[in-house]
Amino acid sequence: SPIPDYLERVLENARPNDSGAPANYIETLANADTSKMAVALAMVDGQIYSAGDDKVEFSIQSISKAFVYAIAIEDSGLKRVLEKIGVEPSGDAFNKLSLERGSNRPMNPMINAGAITAHSLVAGPEATAKERTDRILEILSKLAGRQLQVDEEVYQAELRDADRNMGIGYMLKAAGVIHGDPREAVTGYIRQCSINVNVRDLAMMAATLCNAGIHPVTGESIIPQTSVRQVLSVMTTCGMYDAAGDWVSNIGIPAKSGVAGGIIGALPGQVGIATFSPKLDERGNSVRGVAICEQLSRDMGLHMMDVS
Ligand code: GLU
Repeated sequence: SPIPDYLERVLENARPNDSGAPANYIETLANADTSKMAVALAMVDGQIYSAGDDKVEFSIQSISKAFVYAIAIEDSGLKRVLEKIGVEPSGDAFNKLSLERGSNRPMNPMINAGAITAHSLVAGPEATAKERTDRILEILSKLAGRQLQVDEEVYQAELRDADRNMGIGYMLKAAGVIHGDPREAVTGYIRQCSINVNVRDLAMMAATLCNAGIHPVTGESIIPQTSVRQVLSVMTTCGMYDAAGDWVSNIGIPAKSGVAGGIIGALPGQVGIATFSPKLDERGNSVRGVAICEQLSRDMGLHMMDVS
């Protein structure tokens, strides 16, 4: 197949752009090896291609929000999830302490307020913190097609730096959006963000979204079609921090990025994409990751608004 060579060339095109900086709010991310770079494509028929540092693991961070939203819908029902979390782009920083005016809900599940709420809706109202995090790790592992692990160093460092997220947790509790101990919802959310993945894992996870929730390799139905539609819609409008509009017009693929430098893209019926490179632009998206996705979208005609 010519695809692996093509992917190598795409990486080499992106490499000269050395701008941006890795996230620096915790040391593990600040000290990331910024020379690492990888890309993977997973087709809905189960074929997977990758290039670069495709075995290097990094924390999934905010990319987990898309999948945990799906699990919350599965476990609590779409109606209840929509009562608790809106679907409007916020235009604010992802970690802002904010609720939608009028409804008093978090604006959407891709900002921390919405993601912490989604986390709290996993495994039903009676679930313990451990049951929630175990369930999330189990589903994410199924999607990746291998057993994933939490990066305990990232988890501990994030916990030491959790004041803002704790603030969001208490705000949600005070507003009646989450129930139970807000510290448990926040520590669980931090644990979900600390799960390690590589680009091949992420591409498979994205490809499952592209394939109506059915895992392209195992054939297992992991996410119901109605939840997939909900997740991809919210990724399209809110997935790329404050660059959602630029992203959707230039690249045109439902996507979600994370602060460790990962990005997933999921084009329904076609291909799951994952990229990794730690240096972020001022809006928090991986500089080289965005460049790689831009080239893939252009070369392969992946923009969802184009007639194929
Ligand atoms: N774990 C970090 C937080 O919630 C970053 C999440 C991200 O944007 O990737 O503050």
